[in-house]
Amino acid sequence: MTGETTKMVGKKVRLCGWVATRRDHGKLVFIDLRDRSGIIQVVGDKKLGDLRAEDVVEITGIVRKRPKDMVNPKIPTGEVEVEAKEVKIFARAKELPFPIDTEGLDINEDLRLKYRFLDLRRPRLVKNLELRHRIIKFIRDWLNERRFIEIETPILTKATPEGARDFIVPSRLQPGKFYALPQSPQQYKQLLMVAGFEKYYQIARCLRDEDLRADRQLEFTQLDLEMSFVKREDILDLVEKLMTDITQLFEKKIYKLPFPRVDYKEALKKYGDDKFDLREKKEPNILAFTFVVNQPLFEWKKSENRWDAMHHPFTSPNPEDISLLKTGKISQVRSWQYDLVCNGHEIAGGSIRITDPKLQEKVFEIMGHSKEQIKRKFGHLLKAFEYGVPPHGGIALGLDRLVAVFAGEESIREVIAFPVTSSGQTSVMDAPSEVDPEQLKELGLDVIKRKI
Ligand code: ASP
Repeated sequence: MTGETTKMVGKKVRLCGWVATRRDHGKLVFIDLRDRSGIIQVVGDKKLGDLRAEDVVEITGIVRKRPKDMVNPKIPTGEVEVEAKEVKIFARAKELPFPIDTEGLDINEDLRLKYRFLDLRRPRLVKNLELRHRIIKFIRDWLNERRFIEIETPILTKATPEGARDFIVPSRLQPGKFYALPQSPQQYKQLLMVAGFEKYYQIARCLRDEDLRADRQLEFTQLDLEMSFVKREDILDLVEKLMTDITQLFEKKIYKLPFPRVDYKEALKKYGDDKFDLREKKEPNILAFTFVVNQPLFEWKKSENRWDAMHHPFTSPNPEDISLLKTGKISQVRSWQYDLVCNGHEIAGGSIRITDPKLQEKVFEIMGHSKEQIKRKFGHLLKAFEYGVPPHGGIALGLDRLVAVFAGEESIREVIAFPVTSSGQTSVMDAPSEVDPEQLKELGLDVIKRKI
Protein backbone atom coordinates (compact mmCIF):
# COMPACT_ATOMS: atom_id res chain seq x y z
CA MET A 1 0.00 0.00 0.00
CA THR A 2 1.26 3.47 -0.84
CA GLY A 3 0.43 4.60 2.71
CA GLU A 4 3.16 2.39 4.18
CA THR A 5 6.02 3.61 1.98
CA THR A 6 7.19 6.31 4.38
CA LYS A 7 8.44 3.54 6.68
CA MET A 8 10.30 1.77 3.86
CA VAL A 9 12.99 4.19 2.71
CA GLY A 10 15.71 2.33 0.78
CA LYS A 11 13.58 -0.78 0.38
CA LYS A 12 12.21 -2.40 -2.72
CA VAL A 13 8.42 -2.19 -2.99
CA ARG A 14 5.73 -3.47 -5.28
CA LEU A 15 2.79 -1.10 -5.54
CA CYS A 16 -0.45 -1.65 -7.44
CA GLY A 17 -2.99 0.99 -8.28
CA TRP A 18 -4.22 3.63 -10.69
CA VAL A 19 -2.28 6.37 -12.42
CA ALA A 20 -3.74 9.56 -10.94
CA THR A 21 -1.62 12.00 -12.97
CA ARG A 22 1.42 11.99 -15.22
CA ARG A 23 3.92 14.82 -15.70
CA ASP A 24 6.69 14.66 -18.32
CA HIS A 25 9.85 16.58 -17.50
CA GLY A 26 11.98 15.65 -20.49
CA LYS A 27 13.95 12.58 -19.49
CA LEU A 28 12.23 12.27 -16.17
CA VAL A 29 8.59 11.29 -15.93
CA PHE A 30 6.55 11.60 -12.73
CA ILE A 31 3.31 9.84 -12.00
CA ASP A 32 1.10 9.95 -8.95
CA LEU A 33 0.05 6.42 -8.18
CA ARG A 34 -3.24 6.04 -6.29
CA ASP A 35 -4.47 3.09 -4.27
CA ARG A 36 -7.03 2.88 -1.49
CA SER A 37 -4.68 4.34 1.06
CA GLY A 38 -3.81 7.47 -0.93
CA ILE A 39 -1.24 8.58 -3.48
CA ILE A 40 2.52 8.46 -3.89
CA GLN A 41 4.85 10.06 -6.39
CA VAL A 42 6.68 7.67 -8.68
CA VAL A 43 9.62 8.86 -10.70
CA GLY A 44 11.09 7.08 -13.68
CA ASP A 45 12.23 7.33 -17.26
CA LYS A 46 10.43 6.75 -20.50
CA LYS A 47 8.94 3.49 -19.29
CA LEU A 48 6.42 5.64 -17.43
CA GLY A 49 5.92 7.86 -20.46
CA ASP A 50 3.38 5.58 -22.03
CA LEU A 51 0.99 5.66 -19.07
CA ARG A 52 -2.29 7.53 -19.12
CA ALA A 53 -4.53 8.71 -16.31
CA GLU A 54 -6.47 5.86 -14.66
CA ASP A 55 -4.45 3.04 -16.21
CA VAL A 56 -4.07 0.20 -13.71
CA VAL A 57 -0.43 -0.63 -13.10
CA GLU A 58 2.08 -2.45 -10.97
CA ILE A 59 5.22 -0.51 -10.16
CA THR A 60 8.26 -2.18 -8.69
CA GLY A 61 10.87 0.22 -7.40
CA ILE A 62 12.92 1.61 -4.54
CA VAL A 63 11.55 4.03 -1.95
CA ARG A 64 13.74 7.16 -1.73
CA LYS A 65 13.62 10.10 0.65
CA ARG A 66 12.81 13.25 -1.30
CA PRO A 67 15.29 16.14 -1.12
CA LYS A 68 14.08 18.71 1.46
CA ASP A 69 12.97 21.26 -1.12
CA MET A 70 10.93 18.62 -2.96
CA VAL A 71 8.86 17.47 0.05
CA ASN A 72 5.11 17.78 -0.55
CA PRO A 73 3.47 18.52 2.81
CA LYS A 74 -0.01 18.19 1.27
CA ILE A 75 0.09 14.39 1.06
CA PRO A 76 0.97 11.89 3.82
CA THR A 77 3.61 10.24 1.59
CA GLY A 78 5.06 13.62 0.64
CA GLU A 79 8.49 12.95 2.16
CA VAL A 80 9.24 10.01 -0.11
CA GLU A 81 8.93 8.89 -3.71
CA VAL A 82 9.41 5.63 -5.54
CA GLU A 83 12.07 5.24 -8.16
CA ALA A 84 10.46 2.95 -10.71
CA LYS A 85 12.46 -0.05 -11.90
CA GLU A 86 9.71 -2.03 -13.58
CA VAL A 87 6.24 -1.14 -14.78
CA LYS A 88 3.51 -3.57 -15.65
CA ILE A 89 0.21 -2.40 -17.11
CA PHE A 90 -2.78 -4.45 -15.98
CA ALA A 91 -5.41 -2.47 -17.86
CA ARG A 92 -5.77 0.69 -19.86
CA ALA A 93 -8.43 3.31 -19.10
CA LYS A 94 -10.51 5.49 -21.36
CA GLU A 95 -10.77 9.18 -20.65
CA LEU A 96 -13.10 9.66 -17.68
CA PRO A 97 -16.46 11.42 -18.12
CA PHE A 98 -15.61 13.81 -15.27
CA PRO A 99 -12.68 14.69 -13.05
CA ILE A 100 -12.30 12.65 -9.88
CA ASP A 101 -9.60 14.65 -8.13
CA THR A 102 -12.09 17.32 -7.07
CA GLU A 103 -14.88 17.27 -4.48
CA GLY A 104 -17.26 16.61 -7.37
CA LEU A 105 -20.25 18.46 -5.89
CA ASP A 106 -20.55 20.70 -8.96
CA ILE A 107 -20.91 17.75 -11.37
CA ASN A 108 -24.37 16.72 -12.53
CA GLU A 109 -25.52 14.10 -10.01
CA ASP A 110 -27.21 11.78 -12.50
CA LEU A 111 -23.92 11.58 -14.40
CA ARG A 112 -21.99 10.93 -11.19
CA LEU A 113 -24.38 8.10 -10.29
CA LYS A 114 -24.33 6.61 -13.80
CA TYR A 115 -20.56 6.30 -13.41
CA ARG A 116 -20.63 5.74 -9.67
CA PHE A 117 -17.78 3.21 -9.91
CA LEU A 118 -15.60 6.11 -11.06
CA ASP A 119 -17.17 8.67 -8.75
CA LEU A 120 -16.26 6.35 -5.87
CA ARG A 121 -12.58 6.76 -6.76
CA ARG A 122 -12.94 10.31 -5.48
CA PRO A 123 -10.98 10.60 -2.18
CA ARG A 124 -13.91 12.33 -0.47
CA LEU A 125 -16.18 9.36 -1.14
CA VAL A 126 -13.54 6.80 -0.18
CA LYS A 127 -13.24 8.68 3.10
CA ASN A 128 -17.01 8.77 3.59
CA LEU A 129 -17.42 5.02 3.04
CA GLU A 130 -14.52 4.26 5.35
CA LEU A 131 -16.11 6.47 7.98
CA ARG A 132 -19.44 4.68 7.50
CA HIS A 133 -17.66 1.35 7.95
CA ARG A 134 -15.96 2.58 11.14
CA ILE A 135 -19.19 3.89 12.63
CA ILE A 136 -21.03 0.63 11.94
CA LYS A 137 -18.18 -1.40 13.39
CA PHE A 138 -18.13 0.83 16.46
CA ILE A 139 -21.89 0.40 16.93
CA ARG A 140 -21.67 -3.38 16.57
CA ASP A 141 -18.82 -3.65 19.09
CA TRP A 142 -20.55 -1.29 21.49
CA LEU A 143 -23.84 -3.22 21.43
CA ASN A 144 -22.16 -6.63 21.50
CA GLU A 145 -20.33 -5.59 24.67
CA ARG A 146 -23.73 -4.88 26.21
CA ARG A 147 -25.01 -8.34 25.34
CA PHE A 148 -27.17 -7.35 22.39
CA ILE A 149 -27.58 -9.99 19.72
CA GLU A 150 -27.64 -9.13 16.04
CA ILE A 151 -30.37 -11.05 14.24
CA GLU A 152 -31.31 -10.83 10.58
CA THR A 153 -34.98 -10.67 9.70
CA PRO A 154 -36.62 -11.49 6.35
CA ILE A 155 -36.63 -9.25 3.31
CA LEU A 156 -39.50 -11.12 1.69
CA THR A 157 -42.30 -10.55 4.13
CA LYS A 158 -45.73 -9.13 4.77
CA ALA A 159 -46.54 -5.44 4.95
CA THR A 160 -45.48 -3.64 8.13
CA PRO A 161 -46.94 -0.17 8.14
CA GLU A 162 -44.49 2.68 8.73
CA GLY A 163 -46.59 5.20 6.87
CA ALA A 164 -45.20 4.59 3.38
CA ARG A 165 -46.22 2.55 0.36
CA ASP A 166 -44.93 -1.02 0.19
CA PHE A 167 -42.73 -2.47 -2.47
CA ILE A 168 -44.33 -5.75 -3.47
CA VAL A 169 -42.79 -8.85 -5.02
CA PRO A 170 -44.90 -11.35 -6.96
CA SER A 171 -44.74 -14.97 -5.86
CA ARG A 172 -44.04 -17.53 -8.59
CA LEU A 173 -44.94 -20.47 -6.40
CA GLN A 174 -48.27 -18.96 -5.40
CA PRO A 175 -49.39 -17.01 -8.47
CA GLY A 176 -51.48 -13.96 -7.73
CA LYS A 177 -49.93 -13.56 -4.27
CA PHE A 178 -47.29 -11.07 -3.24
CA TYR A 179 -44.62 -10.51 -0.65
CA ALA A 180 -43.96 -7.04 0.69
CA LEU A 181 -40.43 -5.77 1.26
CA PRO A 182 -40.03 -4.58 4.86
CA GLN A 183 -40.55 -0.91 5.60
CA SER A 184 -38.71 -1.83 8.80
CA PRO A 185 -38.15 -5.02 10.85
CA GLN A 186 -40.71 -3.70 13.36
CA GLN A 187 -42.96 -6.74 13.76
CA TYR A 188 -40.10 -9.22 13.60
CA LYS A 189 -38.17 -7.49 16.34
CA GLN A 190 -41.28 -7.54 18.49
CA LEU A 191 -41.69 -11.25 17.76
CA LEU A 192 -38.05 -11.70 18.82
CA MET A 193 -38.96 -10.13 22.15
CA VAL A 194 -41.83 -12.61 22.50
CA ALA A 195 -39.25 -15.31 21.74
CA GLY A 196 -37.17 -14.06 24.66
CA PHE A 197 -34.06 -12.50 23.10
CA GLU A 198 -34.38 -9.39 25.31
CA LYS A 199 -31.76 -7.28 23.52
CA TYR A 200 -31.80 -7.31 19.73
CA TYR A 201 -30.21 -5.16 17.08
CA GLN A 202 -29.73 -5.22 13.36
CA ILE A 203 -28.06 -3.04 10.79
CA ALA A 204 -31.22 -3.32 8.76
CA ARG A 205 -32.16 -2.38 5.25
CA CYS A 206 -35.61 -0.80 5.01
CA LEU A 207 -37.58 -0.29 1.83
CA ARG A 208 -40.24 2.34 1.43
CA ASP A 209 -41.86 3.35 -1.82
CA GLU A 210 -41.96 7.07 -1.12
CA ASP A 211 -41.65 10.16 -3.22
CA LEU A 212 -38.00 11.03 -3.16
CA ARG A 213 -36.93 14.11 -1.33
CA ALA A 214 -33.41 15.32 -0.71
CA ASP A 215 -33.19 13.27 2.45
CA ARG A 216 -34.93 10.11 1.28
CA GLN A 217 -33.89 6.96 -0.53
CA LEU A 218 -36.16 4.09 -1.57
CA GLU A 219 -33.94 1.82 0.49
CA PHE A 220 -31.99 2.98 3.48
CA THR A 221 -30.19 1.57 6.48
CA GLN A 222 -31.27 1.70 10.08
CA LEU A 223 -29.65 0.67 13.30
CA ASP A 224 -32.70 -1.16 14.59
CA LEU A 225 -32.94 -1.93 18.33
CA GLU A 226 -35.43 -3.60 20.62
CA MET A 227 -35.28 -4.38 24.34
CA SER A 228 -37.50 -6.17 26.80
CA PHE A 229 -38.30 -5.16 30.38
CA VAL A 230 -37.40 -1.54 29.80
CA LYS A 231 -38.99 1.85 30.28
CA ARG A 232 -38.71 4.84 27.99
CA GLU A 233 -35.82 6.32 29.97
CA ASP A 234 -33.76 3.12 29.66
CA ILE A 235 -33.86 3.38 25.88
CA LEU A 236 -33.20 7.10 25.82
CA ASP A 237 -30.23 6.65 28.17
CA LEU A 238 -28.80 3.89 26.01
CA VAL A 239 -29.11 5.94 22.83
CA GLU A 240 -27.66 9.00 24.54
CA LYS A 241 -24.63 7.01 25.70
CA LEU A 242 -24.14 5.44 22.26
CA MET A 243 -24.32 8.83 20.52
CA THR A 244 -21.96 10.38 23.07
CA ASP A 245 -19.43 7.58 22.62
CA ILE A 246 -19.61 7.76 18.81
CA THR A 247 -19.16 11.51 18.91
CA GLN A 248 -15.90 11.00 20.80
CA LEU A 249 -14.46 9.33 17.69
CA PHE A 250 -14.71 12.65 15.92
CA GLU A 251 -13.68 16.23 16.42
CA LYS A 252 -17.22 17.15 17.31
CA LYS A 253 -18.79 18.44 20.50
CA ILE A 254 -22.18 17.76 22.00
CA TYR A 255 -24.22 20.90 22.58
CA LYS A 256 -25.84 19.78 25.81
CA LEU A 257 -25.60 16.75 28.06
CA PRO A 258 -27.79 15.04 29.08
CA PHE A 259 -29.67 15.50 25.81
CA PRO A 260 -32.60 17.83 26.50
CA ARG A 261 -36.02 16.15 26.53
CA VAL A 262 -38.49 18.43 24.81
CA ASP A 263 -42.22 17.95 24.90
CA TYR A 264 -43.64 17.60 21.37
CA LYS A 265 -46.22 20.34 21.86
CA GLU A 266 -43.61 22.68 23.34
CA ALA A 267 -41.36 22.01 20.33
CA LEU A 268 -44.09 22.95 17.89
CA LYS A 269 -44.85 26.08 19.87
CA LYS A 270 -41.25 27.14 20.25
CA TYR A 271 -39.66 26.05 16.96
CA GLY A 272 -42.68 25.54 14.70
CA ASP A 273 -41.39 22.05 13.92
CA ASP A 274 -40.57 18.82 15.73
CA LYS A 275 -37.26 18.66 13.83
CA PHE A 276 -35.50 21.70 15.18
CA ASP A 277 -32.02 22.97 15.70
CA LEU A 278 -31.01 24.08 19.19
CA ARG A 279 -27.83 25.80 18.01
CA GLU A 280 -27.93 29.60 17.77
CA LYS A 281 -25.58 29.46 14.80
CA LYS A 282 -25.14 26.52 12.45
CA GLU A 283 -21.75 25.40 13.80
CA PRO A 284 -20.98 22.12 11.96
CA ASN A 285 -18.82 20.72 14.77
CA ILE A 286 -21.46 21.14 17.44
CA LEU A 287 -24.07 18.42 17.60
CA ALA A 288 -27.31 19.48 19.26
CA PHE A 289 -29.01 16.19 20.10
CA THR A 290 -32.49 16.48 21.58
CA PHE A 291 -35.16 13.93 22.44
CA VAL A 292 -38.69 14.87 21.50
CA VAL A 293 -41.28 13.11 23.66
CA ASN A 294 -45.00 12.94 24.34
CA GLN A 295 -46.12 12.96 20.72
CA PRO A 296 -49.82 12.39 20.14
CA LEU A 297 -50.65 8.74 19.40
CA PHE A 298 -52.73 9.62 16.35
CA GLU A 299 -52.79 12.27 13.68
CA TRP A 300 -55.64 13.05 11.36
CA LYS A 301 -54.90 11.96 7.80
CA LYS A 302 -56.88 14.40 5.76
CA SER A 303 -56.32 12.76 2.37
CA GLU A 304 -57.83 9.51 3.66
CA ASN A 305 -60.30 11.02 6.10
CA ARG A 306 -59.17 8.84 9.01
CA TRP A 307 -56.90 8.68 12.05
CA ASP A 308 -53.44 7.35 11.45
CA ALA A 309 -50.73 6.37 13.92
CA MET A 310 -48.26 9.20 14.32
CA HIS A 311 -45.30 6.80 14.71
CA HIS A 312 -46.70 3.38 13.87
CA PRO A 313 -49.65 1.38 15.18
CA PHE A 314 -47.53 -0.67 17.60
CA THR A 315 -46.73 2.38 19.73
CA SER A 316 -48.20 2.35 23.20
CA PRO A 317 -50.46 5.13 24.37
CA ASN A 318 -49.39 6.80 27.58
CA PRO A 319 -51.32 4.72 30.15
CA GLU A 320 -52.61 7.94 31.75
CA ASP A 321 -54.49 8.66 28.51
CA ILE A 322 -55.96 5.25 27.75
CA SER A 323 -59.35 6.32 29.09
CA LEU A 324 -59.42 9.07 26.42
CA LEU A 325 -59.36 6.35 23.76
CA LYS A 326 -62.66 5.07 25.10
CA THR A 327 -64.26 8.49 25.31
CA GLY A 328 -63.33 9.31 21.72
CA LYS A 329 -60.91 12.15 22.52
CA ILE A 330 -58.51 10.61 20.06
CA SER A 331 -56.44 13.69 19.30
CA GLN A 332 -55.58 14.18 22.98
CA VAL A 333 -54.06 10.77 23.57
CA ARG A 334 -50.32 11.06 24.19
CA SER A 335 -48.07 8.22 23.18
CA TRP A 336 -44.88 6.64 24.42
CA GLN A 337 -43.10 7.61 21.25
CA TYR A 338 -39.71 9.36 21.25
CA ASP A 339 -37.64 10.88 18.48
CA LEU A 340 -34.03 11.96 18.46
CA VAL A 341 -33.24 15.08 16.49
CA CYS A 342 -29.81 16.50 15.77
CA ASN A 343 -29.07 19.85 14.16
CA GLY A 344 -32.53 19.97 12.62
CA HIS A 345 -32.60 16.40 11.31
CA GLU A 346 -34.61 13.50 12.67
CA ILE A 347 -31.98 10.89 13.51
CA ALA A 348 -34.03 8.27 15.30
CA GLY A 349 -37.54 7.32 16.29
CA GLY A 350 -38.99 4.66 18.49
CA SER A 351 -41.49 3.82 21.16
CA ILE A 352 -42.57 1.59 24.00
CA ARG A 353 -44.91 -0.92 22.41
CA ILE A 354 -48.41 -2.12 22.99
CA THR A 355 -48.43 -5.65 24.41
CA ASP A 356 -52.11 -6.04 25.25
CA PRO A 357 -53.80 -7.68 22.23
CA LYS A 358 -57.11 -5.92 23.04
CA LEU A 359 -55.50 -2.50 23.10
CA GLN A 360 -53.61 -3.29 19.90
CA GLU A 361 -56.88 -4.22 18.21
CA LYS A 362 -58.50 -1.01 19.45
CA VAL A 363 -55.69 1.05 17.89
CA PHE A 364 -56.12 -0.70 14.56
CA GLU A 365 -59.86 -0.08 14.74
CA ILE A 366 -59.37 3.63 15.36
CA MET A 367 -57.16 3.67 12.29
CA GLY A 368 -60.12 2.38 10.29
CA HIS A 369 -59.31 -1.33 10.00
CA SER A 370 -62.21 -3.77 10.19
CA LYS A 371 -61.97 -6.80 12.51
CA GLU A 372 -61.47 -9.00 9.44
CA GLN A 373 -58.64 -6.80 8.11
CA ILE A 374 -56.93 -6.77 11.51
CA LYS A 375 -57.00 -10.55 11.63
CA ARG A 376 -55.72 -10.89 8.07
CA LYS A 377 -52.97 -8.28 8.34
CA PHE A 378 -51.84 -8.51 11.94
CA GLY A 379 -53.37 -11.70 13.34
CA HIS A 380 -49.90 -13.23 13.71
CA LEU A 381 -48.76 -10.52 16.12
CA LEU A 382 -51.94 -10.56 18.16
CA LYS A 383 -51.66 -14.31 18.41
CA ALA A 384 -48.02 -14.11 19.51
CA PHE A 385 -49.03 -11.72 22.29
CA GLU A 386 -51.26 -14.44 23.73
CA TYR A 387 -48.25 -16.60 24.58
CA GLY A 388 -46.42 -14.48 27.14
CA VAL A 389 -45.18 -11.19 25.82
CA PRO A 390 -42.64 -9.17 27.81
CA PRO A 391 -43.01 -5.39 28.07
CA HIS A 392 -40.72 -4.02 25.37
CA GLY A 393 -39.69 -1.02 23.36
CA GLY A 394 -37.11 0.04 20.87
CA ILE A 395 -35.84 2.59 18.46
CA ALA A 396 -34.35 2.86 15.00
CA LEU A 397 -31.57 5.24 14.03
CA GLY A 398 -31.21 6.37 10.45
CA LEU A 399 -27.63 5.38 9.75
CA ASP A 400 -27.34 7.24 6.48
CA ARG A 401 -28.19 10.56 8.11
CA LEU A 402 -26.04 9.83 11.14
CA VAL A 403 -23.00 9.12 8.96
CA ALA A 404 -23.74 12.21 6.87
CA VAL A 405 -23.76 14.33 10.04
CA PHE A 406 -20.37 12.97 11.12
CA ALA A 407 -18.94 13.23 7.61
CA GLY A 408 -20.15 16.84 7.39
CA GLU A 409 -22.15 16.03 4.25
CA GLU A 410 -25.45 17.68 3.37
CA SER A 411 -26.88 14.80 1.33
CA ILE A 412 -27.16 11.20 2.49
CA ARG A 413 -26.32 10.14 -1.07
CA GLU A 414 -22.72 11.18 -0.37
CA VAL A 415 -22.42 8.43 2.25
CA ILE A 416 -24.20 5.63 0.36
CA ALA A 417 -22.16 3.60 -2.13
CA PHE A 418 -24.87 3.18 -4.75
CA PRO A 419 -27.81 5.50 -4.06
CA VAL A 420 -30.79 6.02 -6.35
CA THR A 421 -31.18 9.22 -8.32
CA SER A 422 -33.84 11.77 -7.49
CA SER A 423 -36.14 10.09 -10.03
CA GLY A 424 -35.66 6.65 -8.46
CA GLN A 425 -33.19 5.29 -11.01
CA THR A 426 -30.51 3.06 -9.54
CA SER A 427 -26.83 3.98 -9.78
CA VAL A 428 -24.92 2.39 -12.66
CA MET A 429 -27.49 -0.30 -13.39
CA ASP A 430 -30.55 0.56 -15.33
CA ALA A 431 -33.33 -0.23 -12.89
CA PRO A 432 -36.25 -0.16 -12.74
CA SER A 433 -36.40 -1.82 -16.14
CA GLU A 434 -38.72 -3.99 -18.16
CA VAL A 435 -38.51 -7.76 -17.69
CA ASP A 436 -38.69 -10.63 -20.17
CA PRO A 437 -42.22 -11.65 -21.20
CA GLU A 438 -41.15 -15.15 -20.11
CA GLN A 439 -40.58 -13.96 -16.54
CA LEU A 440 -43.99 -12.31 -16.46
CA LYS A 441 -45.61 -15.46 -17.77
CA GLU A 442 -43.97 -17.53 -15.07
CA LEU A 443 -45.32 -15.15 -12.47
CA GLY A 444 -48.77 -15.15 -14.00
CA LEU A 445 -48.61 -11.39 -14.54
CA ASP A 446 -49.80 -9.19 -17.38
CA VAL A 447 -48.57 -5.62 -17.63
CA ILE A 448 -51.28 -3.20 -18.64
CA LYS A 449 -49.75 0.05 -19.74
CA ARG A 450 -51.78 3.08 -18.94
CA LYS A 451 -51.12 6.63 -17.97
CA ILE A 452 -51.19 7.26 -14.25
N1 ASP B 1 -39.77 0.77 13.19
C1 ASP B 1 -39.61 2.14 13.57
C2 ASP B 1 -39.14 2.97 12.37
O1 ASP B 1 -38.67 2.42 11.40
C3 ASP B 1 -38.64 2.33 14.67
C4 ASP B 1 -39.10 1.80 15.97
O2 ASP B 1 -40.21 2.12 16.40
O3 ASP B 1 -38.32 1.08 16.62
O4 ASP B 1 -39.21 4.18 12.43
